[in-house]
Amino acid sequence: MHSSTLDLRIASIFVILFGASVFGLLTLRFRSADAVFPRLLRAFSGGIILALALVHIIPEAVADLNSLMHFPIGGCTILFGIISLCVTAYTMELGCIFHSVIIGVGVGVITQDRQLVTTLMIALAIHQGLEALALGSVLALTSFSLPKKVVMLLLYSMTTPIGIAVGIAISSSYDPESITSRAVQGTLNGVSGGMLLYIAMFQLIAEEFSREDMLVRPGLRLGMYGALCAGAAVMCILGIWS
Ligand SMILES: [Zn+2]
Repeated sequence: MHSSTLDLRIASIFVILFGASVFGLLTLRFRSADAVFPRLLRAFSGGIILALALVHIIPEAVADLNSLMHFPIGGCTILFGIISLCVTAYTMELGCIFHSVIIGVGVGVITQDRQLVTTLMIALAIHQGLEALALGSVLALTSFSLPKKVVMLLLYSMTTPIGIAVGIAISSSYDPESITSRAVQGTLNGVSGGMLLYIAMFQLIAEEFSREDMLVRPGLRLGMYGALCAGAAVMCILGIWS
C-alpha cells in the first residue's frame, strides 16, 4: 500500500492550482490607487504577507540554519533578503515561490495518511489563494500589461502543484531533516522571508497607512487596520498546517 494517497495527492494539484489562479486573477481587477475597496484589499494583503514572513517562513529558516553551526546564520540570510530588493512585484513573487514549492513537496511525499492529505489540500488551497490575492493586488497597481500580469499569476499558481508533483516523484528518498535539505531550505527561506518582511512593512503597510487622507478619514483608517489584522490572523491560523 505504498501509494494509498496517490489519487488525493493528484487531486490536490488541481484543487490548489484552481484556488490560487481564481483568487489571483479576481484581484487583478482592482487597479485603483484611491478607491476604498482596493485600499482595504492592499491592507489585507499587507497582513497576509507580514504573517507569511514572520509566522511561516522566518522561524523555519532560523531553526534550520542555526542547527547547522555555532553562529546565528539564519538571521544573516534574512538580512540579506531585506537588503537585496529592487522591484516589488518581481521580488514579491520570488519571495513567495520557495515556500509555495516546499509546502507542495510536503504534501507530495505523504504516502499513507489520506485524512492529512485532504486537510492539507484544503488548507493549501486557501494558503495559495490568499497569497495569490496579495500578489494580484500588488500586480494590479503596476504598469505591467494585462497578459504579463496574468502569466505571472498563473506561474505563481503552479508553484505548489509543481512541488506536489516533485514530492510524488521523490517520495521514497526525500529526507527534510538531512543536513543538505536544512541548509538549502533554510537559506532560501531566510532570503525570501527577509524580502517579504520588507515588502509587507514598507511597500504595502507603510505606503498605504501613511497616505495623507488617513488622518482625516477615521472610518477608512479603522477599516484598513481591521483588514490588516484579518489578513495576518488568517495566515497565523494557516500556520497550523503550512
Ligand atoms: Zn505557509
